[in-house]
Parts: sequence; C-alpha cells; structure tokens
Amino acid sequence: MKKYFNKLYKKDANTFYQELKKSLEKEEKHFIVTANPETFMMASKDKEFHKLLLDTNVTMVPDGIGIVKAAHKVKYDVKGRITGIDIAEKLLEYGNELEKTICVLGSKQEVIDAFANVLNKKYPNLNVGVLLNGYSKDKDKDFEKIIKVKPDIVLVALGMGNQEKLIYKHINKFDKGVFIGVGGSIDVLSGTKKRAPKILIKLNLEWLYRICKEPKRIKRFYENNIKFILRVKKLIK
Ligand code: UDP
Repeated sequence: MKKYFNKLYKKDANTFYQELKKSLEKEEKHFIVTANPETFMMASKDKEFHKLLLDTNVTMVPDGIGIVKAAHKVKYDVKGRITGIDIAEKLLEYGNELEKTICVLGSKQEVIDAFANVLNKKYPNLNVGVLLNGYSKDKDKDFEKIIKVKPDIVLVALGMGNQEKLIYKHINKFDKGVFIGVGGSIDVLSGTKKRAPKILIKLNLEWLYRICKEPKRIKRFYENNIKFILRVKKLIK
C-alpha cells in the first residue's frame, strides 16, 4: 500500500495541468491514472493492475478525497484532489486551443451522441477521431480503430480497472497521446448526468452526492473504504 502512496503525484493541480499541456504540445506519450481508495484496494488484489499502477510510465493522481486525507496521515505531501473529470475538461480545452485530435471509447451510445454535440459546439477546433460506445464485445478491435487515428487525446470511460487495463494493453502501439481512464466523466461532460454542486465539491462531499444519486454504489464504496481505512491505520502504527 505504501508503494501506491509513494507513487502519487505530489504537486498541485495547476502544475499538473501545465505539464499536461506541455505533453500535448510536445506530442509526448502520457498515461494518467486517477486514484481513489478503490483503486488502491483493487491493485492490492489484482497483479495486473498492481503492475500497471507502479509502472514508471504511469502518472497516478489523487482523485478521491479519501486518498488525499490518507496520504496526509501517512505523511505524504499530496497537495489536493486532481480529478478525472477536471483533467478531461482541461484536455478538451487544450486540445481545442492546440487543434489536437481526440478519441473516446466508453459510455452509452446516447451519451456518445450527446458528447459529439458538445464537442462540436464548445470545442470547434478539436478534431474528433472516433467516438465509440463502451458496449461492443470486442474492445481490442475498438482500440485498433483508435490506433489508426493517431490521436493526441484518448479518453476511456469503461469504469475503474477495465479502462486502465485496456489502455495498458494497447499503449505501446501509439507514438504519442495523452491517455486517461475517466469513469463516468463523459456522462457528465455530455450533459447527460449532473456533477455534484460546487459547494459539495468544495466541502469534499462529492462522493456522498454520487452515492445519493446512485445508491447501488453504497456496497462497493463501503466495502472498499472500510478496508482502505484499516490498511492505512496499519501503515501509521
Ligand atoms: N461503461 C461502459 N461499458 C461497460 C461498463 C460501463 O461503457 O461495459 C461505462 C458506463 O456507461 C459509464 C462508465 O463506464 O459511463 C463507468 O462510470 P462509473 O462512474 O461507474 O465509473 P467508476 O465509478 O468506475 O469510475
């Protein structure tokens, strides 16, 4: 568990965004994983995910408040949350400014359609490569379509774990690109779902909003977070 904390990006969000913009400008390859307690718990059980998370080519940013608070408890100077949805939004903004090409894999077809409209209206200089929903049987085949586009930005929205593993499987076939698993962010960025109100984000209660909106998350959240807290307590002893 300590290895994961060690690996966390320690600088602030704005510095990270500037680095991201530079990666786009210089056409560097960049794989970002956004971490919350579930990420650490999954990695401690799943060898493939563990390897991916600790790969030196992967930048792991603290997405959830649970990770930020726990990092402070184990004396790591993490500056604050850097969320997947904020990163995705920055990538759209920079991609538009720099006239880069984007591909998306994941979320439902109606969400993809709505997102295509948003891209068109709000980010007219961003070139849209392929936008593929996340419900086809052969995701490797979907990725082959993305490889052909040679994109600068690849957002994969398939849920934590699956999205990162899929990127990891194919990233060596790309010469450039910023890759990130964004979970349910496309649902929000497309206007299909609402993000938590700003006041709740400020109060670090975004997680509570998501649980209230999708009560089926309670079990997953409870199990992972309780285990995570116990693991962190062991580290402090
Ligand atoms: N999803 C998908 N294909 C699947 C399963 C999920 O495209 O087979 C999408 C789903 O539509 C949603 C996203 O993956 O847009 C998962 O969002 P969630 O907020 O659950 O992600 P997490 O909490 O794991 O980050």
